[in-house]
Amino acid sequence: MNMSRPDVLVIGGAVIGSAAAHFLCEMARPPQVLVLERDPTYTGCATTRSLASIRHQFSTPLNVAISMFGTAFIREAAQRLEVPGTPAVDLVFREAGYLFLASAAGREQLEANHAVQRACGADVALLDPEALRQRFPWLHVDDLAAGSLGLRGEGWIDAHALMHGLRRRAAWRGARWQHAEAVSLEREGSRVVAVRLADGTRLSPGLVILAAGTRAAALAATAGIDLPVRARRRCVFRFRSPERAPGCPLVIDPSGVYVRPEGDGYLCGVAPGEHEDPDVAPDDFEVDHALWEERLWPVLAQRVPGFEAARVGSSWAGHYDVNVLDHNAIVGLHPDVDNLLFANGYSGHGVQQAPAVGRALAEWVEHGGWRTLDFRPLGWSRVLRGEPLREVNVV
Ligand SMILES: Cc1cc2nc3c(=O)[nH]c(=O)nc-3n(C[C@H](O)[C@H](O)[C@H](O)COP(=O)(O)OP(=O)(O)OC[C@H]3O[C@@H](n4cnc5c(N)ncnc54)[C@H](O)[C@@H]3O)c2cc1C
Repeated sequence: MNMSRPDVLVIGGAVIGSAAAHFLCEMARPPQVLVLERDPTYTGCATTRSLASIRHQFSTPLNVAISMFGTAFIREAAQRLEVPGTPAVDLVFREAGYLFLASAAGREQLEANHAVQRACGADVALLDPEALRQRFPWLHVDDLAAGSLGLRGEGWIDAHALMHGLRRRAAWRGARWQHAEAVSLEREGSRVVAVRLADGTRLSPGLVILAAGTRAAALAATAGIDLPVRARRRCVFRFRSPERAPGCPLVIDPSGVYVRPEGDGYLCGVAPGEHEDPDVAPDDFEVDHALWEERLWPVLAQRVPGFEAARVGSSWAGHYDVNVLDHNAIVGLHPDVDNLLFANGYSGHGVQQAPAVGRALAEWVEHGGWRTLDFRPLGWSRVLRGEPLREVNVV
């Protein structure tokens, strides 16, 4: 491969960049793919700090379809990501479902989402409080109006195993990874003619795929494009409890607090309201320790009385790559630039979307348009028109 003139240059080599490289390299006549990654330890990226959960319970049909392919890919990962002579990929899929809980105020929205999900073929069930009590006797249901439970295909995986499996297979099929940071996109008219690296090197790829997570907006700005994706901090806490909560899915309380099992304990966090969700620097990983005491534990102890005796352990902060327009990804070309594909703004659901986005990008490269799934609803048009495709089921 001519490293300074690859056919496709992917900026960012975490789960989205690796998925793009993987699907590109599975093409009958794969292009030369070079992936730039500024941090080969992957310590700060969202993929590493994610909860790596997958659900079909979205309010946007395309998001449901994207995650349904995500589940299919997860199930087939050992075959799809096989590299002869190396151990099989194990994504450790724990198919325990998501359980969205609604009070009377949220019931209508829950039912509307449910109708969308069922129409898309998702295996989800609406449960009334009595059915919830019978299925999850450890759950306090008296203040609830309904719950929506994913019966199949939802749960959580090992995000690192997915990323490394995609990367390993792509590398085996010919993709190259380079430890380097892209600092600017040099644009002439409707084309990116070069990508400048931190060490001063200039690369001249045929096509650029921008998969740089929370740092994508800064790069897009160097090409004169305002990408509305911002880093927003999310804190995750581990806790232990004598309550075993048998069959516990990923539970989302009406307050936005979520909890799911992990190992011999639990992970929890909360989706903040828009007004309490400032932009942060992509290297600001400070944990808001007060969250546990003030927001999480009171809700958890009320929702699962056995969690009254919870003991908080470690915690971490990571960044959602939030599309501030509508909490949905922005995938595809900007109308002003012909050779720059965006793959950004997953707003907290990028791990599960990686397989479908990777496939879509590769299909676009091969055919010049979307194929298996029509990604137009997630394209730039609605951003430029200022018409949000709002995803209401944000966790
Ligand atoms: C706390 C938390 C929980 C989450 N839970 C879930 C979940 O349950 N399910 C789910 O689906 N998603 C979840 N997400 C979201 C998910 O992690 C992200 O949407 C997804 O990882 C985005 O992948 P990415 O590859 O686009 O970005 P990232 O993982 O952030 O990777 C971007 C990569 O680009 C590299 N890079 C950046 N700039 C440059 C540059 N200029 N040059 C070269 N390389 C560059 C970075 O080093 C990084 O490796 C969660 C996120 C967080 C923070």
